[in-house]
Amino acid sequence: MALLEVTNLSVQFDTPDGPVTAVNGLSFELERGQTVGIVGESGSGKSQTVLAMMGLLASNGHASGSARFDGQDLLSLSPKALNSIRGNRVAMIFQDPMTSLNPYLTVERQMTEVLELHKGMTRAQARVRAVRALDAVKIPEAARRLGMYPHEFSGGMRQRVMIAMALLCEPDVLIADEPTTALDVTVQAQIIALLRELQREHGTAIVMITHDLGVVAGLCDKVMVLYGGRVMEQGSAESIFYQPTHPYTIGLLDAIPHIGQDGHTLLAIPGAPPNMAHLPPGCPFSERCRWAEPRCVSQRPALTALPEQPGVLRACHLSPAQIALPESEVQP
Ligand code: SF4
Repeated sequence: MALLEVTNLSVQFDTPDGPVTAVNGLSFELERGQTVGIVGESGSGKSQTVLAMMGLLASNGHASGSARFDGQDLLSLSPKALNSIRGNRVAMIFQDPMTSLNPYLTVERQMTEVLELHKGMTRAQARVRAVRALDAVKIPEAARRLGMYPHEFSGGMRQRVMIAMALLCEPDVLIADEPTTALDVTVQAQIIALLRELQREHGTAIVMITHDLGVVAGLCDKVMVLYGGRVMEQGSAESIFYQPTHPYTIGLLDAIPHIGQDGHTLLAIPGAPPNMAHLPPGCPFSERCRWAEPRCVSQRPALTALPEQPGVLRACHLSPAQIALPESEVQP
């Protein structure tokens, strides 16, 4: 049995305009030490997917399907049972560290409190562990900095503090929601390298949520590409990066700068993500897809296995051969 097994997860919100489905029928499995990347533009449903798993949806949201962690369905656990898993066996890190860090408490107080609560440690034991955690995320002079407040750290260092806090209880699963978006490229690369290293050491499984395929390139084993709350393409990171078969995945990859790409024009996907309250009846991507045909607008493509690439699922009416780029447009 996989450590995390998500089956047919859907999320719906009651709104004044009627019910809006933010996530539609997502399924994936994650083993210990693996990373799955959930990729898509803002509003694609990626954050709602993990908020649903953690019981953190807004009050007008409902989740259906199942999300089995170590055999227990997170969606049907009581708030108390979920609380004992959250922050302990399953931890989250966010784009904005201030969402998880309390600006009015020192880092020491926040870290030791978690260990006292979840691990029953004394303050002195917890302090030793907290210094070790800050050391592990490469915060210089960890013992001295432990007594500082979150605002006394730089953006990149605050992100490291949040990672240290999330990893304090040695969680089995770490959910990272756009953890590097607000950081510059160098710090972004350092944080990704740090997550990879921590994963290697502790065998933590990671769910990485991002709008940037470049961020998941070096970290993920599996990738799910979401658009309009639905999976467009899903498979191993290798197949998604080297043999993408869906027009939306191809569009996202074309928007990544490549090393040695001097003078090459990056191709942004034209148009904007869809309004989730008014999705087209057919393919959600039809309004922006350069290959769209009349049937794409009216008929929703099913998510089906691709016989020529085992393990890949895609939702598109056209075959990969039909959307193959002309030679002149292939990126080097
Ligand atoms: Fe494009 Fe049609 Fe495929 Fe949707 S189904 S991605 S609109 S070709």
